[in-house]
Amino acid sequence: MQTIQKTELKTAADGGLGTGQSEAKQRTGEPKGQKVRAMLRARLGEDIFSSWFHALEFEGFDGKIVKVSVPVKFLRTWIQSHYLQDLLECCRAEFKGAERVEVMLRQPGGAAGVRCDNGQAAQAGSGDGANGSRTAVRATEHGQRIAGIVAPTQAVGRTSVGGFEGSPLDPRYTFESFVIGPSNRMAHAGATQVAETALADNPAFNPLYIHSSVGLGKTHLLHAIAWEVKRREPHAQVLYLTAERFRYQFVEALRSQDPLAFKDKFRSINILLIDDLEFMHGERTEQEFDHIINALLDGGRQVVVASARAPNHIERLNERMRSRLQRGLVTELGTLDHELRLKILEKRLAEKRGGDPSFTLGGEILELLAERLTESGRELEGAITRLYATWQYMRTAITPDVAETVIRDLVQGLEPRRIKIEDILRIISRHFGVSKGDLLSQRRHRSVVWPRQVGMYLAKQLTARSLPEIGRRFGNRDHTTVLHAIRKIEGEITGNPRLKDEIEELKKLLSH
Ligand code: ADP
Ligand code: MG
Repeated sequence: MQTIQKTELKTAADGGLGTGQSEAKQRTGEPKGQKVRAMLRARLGEDIFSSWFHALEFEGFDGKIVKVSVPVKFLRTWIQSHYLQDLLECCRAEFKGAERVEVMLRQPGGAAGVRCDNGQAAQAGSGDGANGSRTAVRATEHGQRIAGIVAPTQAVGRTSVGGFEGSPLDPRYTFESFVIGPSNRMAHAGATQVAETALADNPAFNPLYIHSSVGLGKTHLLHAIAWEVKRREPHAQVLYLTAERFRYQFVEALRSQDPLAFKDKFRSINILLIDDLEFMHGERTEQEFDHIINALLDGGRQVVVASARAPNHIERLNERMRSRLQRGLVTELGTLDHELRLKILEKRLAEKRGGDPSFTLGGEILELLAERLTESGRELEGAITRLYATWQYMRTAITPDVAETVIRDLVQGLEPRRIKIEDILRIISRHFGVSKGDLLSQRRHRSVVWPRQVGMYLAKQLTARSLPEIGRRFGNRDHTTVLHAIRKIEGEITGNPRLKDEIEELKKLLSH
């Protein structure tokens, strides 16, 4: 890969190779590395090779373990779970005596000790040398440009009234970036109407109540209203609060203040937007909520509420509040249809391209994402973010294969799967590059004992099997051996964040 310079190999994050040593090993390892790469390409085909091995570098070989590195965590995870055997076999042809391959995460640019996590580092612009700083600058400019339009008088991202700070507002969630379709037309119309009339004496709908299941655009619409009201009238007193924030900070503040002074401050609000109403609970909180909403509505101030449930399905609300909340416009956001999903993806892509025109996704990739990511806008946003992070590192066209992984990553966890000991053995064997036979054998070599212990630990954590049963499945071992393994891993995890990460990743792989 062109963007990662050879010199960066010296600072490989977790290779444990000293600088000079690394270079020496590199010099001897690289020609062999080239050959291994060629073998992999021949064996797996160009598509797979360029999807997964394009950025693979050889870090060293100590006579037993071949160390390779990739710059992105999910590449490492993917290679470990799908291609470790192929990699090992190709390595064995060049590195005599190789017993296993260790895939490490490479630190781009050499900022010590920071691990990149699915491209988050890329997004923050950390590390990636000159390239990364350019990205960071671009990102900031982009953010300011948006902020400049929507909030000329305000620091980006927060509303505040009378000393009360609201929850953060996302500068990207505006009406311009909201895609309209049959499932949200009504809510969108209500929201724009409210944004236009919130400051009038007689607001159009009061309150506006938007509900839907997760990820369908409620928060986006609330933020869009807040930005729009501010854009129209920079001095408008807009307060956007999640129920959680209302609960913890607002109600706290209320307690410590003179109630009359507090009410005064409150009267200055023009528009109050409450997000995630379903989390509004606690006797005192509910009382205050009632009180404040009633006062605002009575005073003709605009109230907007978003919730996972319709007003009559929120048990905690009292009857009076329920009917009050239903008196304005109650509207539901429906599921995003294929066309809407595709448009949202295109919009998000265009946004990214605004900051970095070199990033593109083919039509077939967008189709694939729209086809498979059906549950919520969050997945769509997540997919574009991740593919962009991948692009920043790899600088090679995103293939359907890469898109597939991102999809799997995003939809995993929707249906938690029952994990079997068989799965654990398979993943452990791939991850550590030891055969299943070895795991179940009586061999006591460290290269086998450690993976076996990790496997037992995972079996205890992820399955409902008893210790004796786990022992039986791991080569007919005694339950005390299993117990010992569990304690050992537990003990090591506490002082070893890398091991903790590794275990977390194995768990993730298992829940795929
Ligand atoms: P909710 O609050 O209903 O859980 P969000 O407003 O957080 O959902 O939306 C989740 C993601 O989906 C956000 O990135 C949002 O921008 C995006 N999204 C949802 N609906 C739309 C839409 N109609 N147009 C553009 N983006 C959307
Ligand atoms: Mg939300």
